[in-house]
Amino acid sequence: MKTGILTNIHNLPAGLKGLCTGFPELDPDPEFPFRLTEVWAMKIKKAGDPLFIQAIPSRFERDRLPSESNDPLAEERFMVSPGLVHRYPDRVLLLLTDNCDMHCRHCFRRSFSGKGGGTLNQAELEAAAAYVRAHEEVHEIIYSGGDPLTLDPAVLEGCFTAMHFPGRNMVRRIGTRVPVVSPGRINDRLLNVLTKQKPLWTMLQINHPDELCQESLRALAALREAGAVLLNQTVLIDKVNDDPEILKRLCHILVENGIKPYYVFQGDLAGGTSHLRVPLKKGWEIMKQLRRKVSGIALPVFAVDLPGGGGKIPLTESYFIREDAEGLVFTSPEGGEYCYPVEE
Ligand SMILES: *Cc1c(COP(=O)(O)O)cnc(C)c1O
Ligand code: SF4
Repeated sequence: MKTGILTNIHNLPAGLKGLCTGFPELDPDPEFPFRLTEVWAMKIKKAGDPLFIQAIPSRFERDRLPSESNDPLAEERFMVSPGLVHRYPDRVLLLLTDNCDMHCRHCFRRSFSGKGGGTLNQAELEAAAAYVRAHEEVHEIIYSGGDPLTLDPAVLEGCFTAMHFPGRNMVRRIGTRVPVVSPGRINDRLLNVLTKQKPLWTMLQINHPDELCQESLRALAALREAGAVLLNQTVLIDKVNDDPEILKRLCHILVENGIKPYYVFQGDLAGGTSHLRVPLKKGWEIMKQLRRKVSGIALPVFAVDLPGGGGKIPLTESYFIREDAEGLVFTSPEGGEYCYPVEE
C-alpha cells in the first residue's frame, strides 16, 4: 500500500513540480521530511493554495520562536508507558504508530510523527493494556499517532485485540486524516476490522472544503456505513482557513455529509510553525462571526491546548454580564440585556 506516496521533493510529478518552482518559500530539505500522497497532490490547484500550504515545506519552518517547543502539550510528562498518554482522568491517548501518509506542515506532533519510531510492538501494547487494566477510571481509549489507519488492517486488529477489556465498558476513538489523504486505504479489509469496534468515534482532521474530493466523500460514507461516528477537528491555519466564510463552507459540507464539526483548534506552539499560526485574538473574532453564520449542529467549539501541559480549554464567548438582586444578567447575540431570575 506504499504506492502513491511522494517522498522525494526533487522528483515530483510534472504538475506539482511546476507549482513548486513558483513558490519562493520552498524548502527542499526540511527537518520534518516531505511526504505526500498523489491523491492529495491532485487536489492542489495552485502554488500557495490551502492544500499546497498544508503539504509543501516552507523555509519559514526553520524559524524557531522562544515560545515554541518540540513537545508543546508536554505529552512526555504525561506518558505513563511507551505511547500511552494519560492527561485526563477518564481517557487515555495511545500513539499506535508514528507513520503518516502525508506530513502536514502544521503538525504539532512533528517531533514524533514520521521519525522512524514505527509501530508499538506486542510488549509495548501489553504494557499499555496492563496500565489501563489497573486504572478503572479510564473509560475511553483514543488511538492516535501518527495515523493509525495507515497500519495494515491485520496489524491494527492486533492492536485492538491487545486493548480489549472483557466485561468493561470502554469508548473507542481514533484520530485520522486517511479519508482525505489516502482514501484508497478505506477498503473492505480495513472496514471489516473497524466495524467490529463500532461505534468507533472517528476524529477526522479536515481543514478546508477542497480536501473533500469525490474519493474522500466515498471513503467517509463507507466508514459511516461500517458504524463509525464521524466528527471533525479543524486546525486554524494562516491562508488556509482563517476566514469565517471558508469555515462556514467547511462546516456546511461536513454536516451535509453526516460529520459533526467538533473542535476548531488554535495552532499549538510546535517549533517551526509560527508562519502557519493565526493570532489567537483573530481566531476568536473569526469564531464569533462563524457562530452567527451556522446552526448549532454545524458549530464547532473553538479550543486551545494550553502550552506546557495546561490541557484543552474551550475559548467560548461569555454572555454573562453580572448578577444582581433579580438574578443573572446576560447579553443576547443581538445586544441588549436579559435577566434570568435566581429562584430560591
Ligand atoms: C485532546 C486530548 C484528549 C481528548 O480530549 P477531548 O476534549 O475529550 O476531545 C485526550 N487526551 C489527550 C492527551 C489529549 O491531548
Ligand atoms: S496526519 Fe496528523 S500526525 Fe500525521 S502529520 Fe498530519 S497532523 Fe501530524
